[in-house]
Amino acid sequence: MKRLVEVSCRRSFLERLGAAWLLLGLPAQAWASVVKAVRVWPAALYTRVTIESDTALTVTHQRLSQPERLVIDIEGLELSNQLRDLVSKVQPEDPYIAAVRVGQFQPRVVRLVLDLKQAVAPQLFSLAPVANYQHRLVFDLHPTVEQDPLLQFLQEKLRAEGQAQRQVNDALGEFIGQMGPRTAVPTTTAPTNTPAEPSAQDLQRLERLIVVAIDPGHGGEDPGAIGPTGLKEKDVVLSIGLQLRDRINATPGMRAFMTRDGDYFVALGDRVRRARRVQADLFVSIHADAFFTPQARGASVYALSTRGATSAAARWMAKRENASDAVGGIQAPVSDAQVLRAMLDMSTTAQINDSLQLGSVLLTQLDRVGRLHKRRVEQAGFAVLKAPDVPSVLVETAFISNPEEERRLADTQYQAGLVEALHQGIRQYFSRNPPVARRRTL
Ligand SMILES: [Zn+2]
Repeated sequence: MKRLVEVSCRRSFLERLGAAWLLLGLPAQAWASVVKAVRVWPAALYTRVTIESDTALTVTHQRLSQPERLVIDIEGLELSNQLRDLVSKVQPEDPYIAAVRVGQFQPRVVRLVLDLKQAVAPQLFSLAPVANYQHRLVFDLHPTVEQDPLLQFLQEKLRAEGQAQRQVNDALGEFIGQMGPRTAVPTTTAPTNTPAEPSAQDLQRLERLIVVAIDPGHGGEDPGAIGPTGLKEKDVVLSIGLQLRDRINATPGMRAFMTRDGDYFVALGDRVRRARRVQADLFVSIHADAFFTPQARGASVYALSTRGATSAAARWMAKRENASDAVGGIQAPVSDAQVLRAMLDMSTTAQINDSLQLGSVLLTQLDRVGRLHKRRVEQAGFAVLKAPDVPSVLVETAFISNPEEERRLADTQYQAGLVEALHQGIRQYFSRNPPVARRRTL
């Protein structure tokens, strides 16, 4: 149907033909793809624009500078309200996109012009239908120079320390004010609005710090599992992750690193790579998954296995979690076999043993908050647990597919209980296994 009408047809003929199709009850523009949805996922890491359609779209693009723009021509499209909506979906705080303009460039070509706030390294790619999605056209706008997670981590740390110092100064100023005539408040730190480059001293202090990588699963295009009333796994686990981050950052000697801190997608391999870059002492992936039957319930903790799964359910769960890259959408999926081969070159036995210890401490703590699905740490080939040198666990906090557990997961008090359990477990693990001096060089 798409190729029924030749490009050379005159417009008036097309319109007449359109009218004839209408009479026959067929769509007027049968050659055109139908846009089902457009989505924008802004984040500091990268901004993604997704156009979902009923058939695959062909696209060409060009980058223009002064001012920075990305011009994208999509073939086989008629301008529709869905596409026009894209204009209003750009948020003022988007780090990359200032505005979008949409127009019918040629009879069969829609042109999008993205006015950019900075030069970008764009990645444009198509994704075949998967999960609940039809064909997707994806534009990922990355910074031209990739943000270094370590530098970012240190800058955030410096900013937090500066803020804490300012709070102390403010409290001190208030106290002095109450005591008598106002005197100058001693300032011990310079304003840290413009974060400085980390010094050798900062890097040394990092060595004495326990770094916990918190990995809220899914995000952006990948909602994860969805509960009976529509609660999304990606939202629940982000909320739990951010609360855990605050608890860890308030713990002396500990600092959290988030693999994602908003509603955007991060590929599984990237999560691992970023956590390793900041030399995380451990990696905790947070999930709330679904099972075939709504009866499945309780928390579980998983570690990596290099020799098959410990149960059919664990294998099933790993397969489900590993599908995140396909649903979230990455340009060049790295095959699991490739990742596994790279991993086997390095020693993972110690990692898995440490992960099993961490997992069992976490299970003991989670047992106090709610039910457990399994009382022992299960193992399977989870892609996100494959850092060869960082103890890594995946916590399924509850089954979002179970109506009662979905309700609990939405409850702030229950979330706080889970956060408390994870925090206690992590502290307990480190009191039993103090981190050894970092071997890796920065
Ligand atoms: Zn999940």
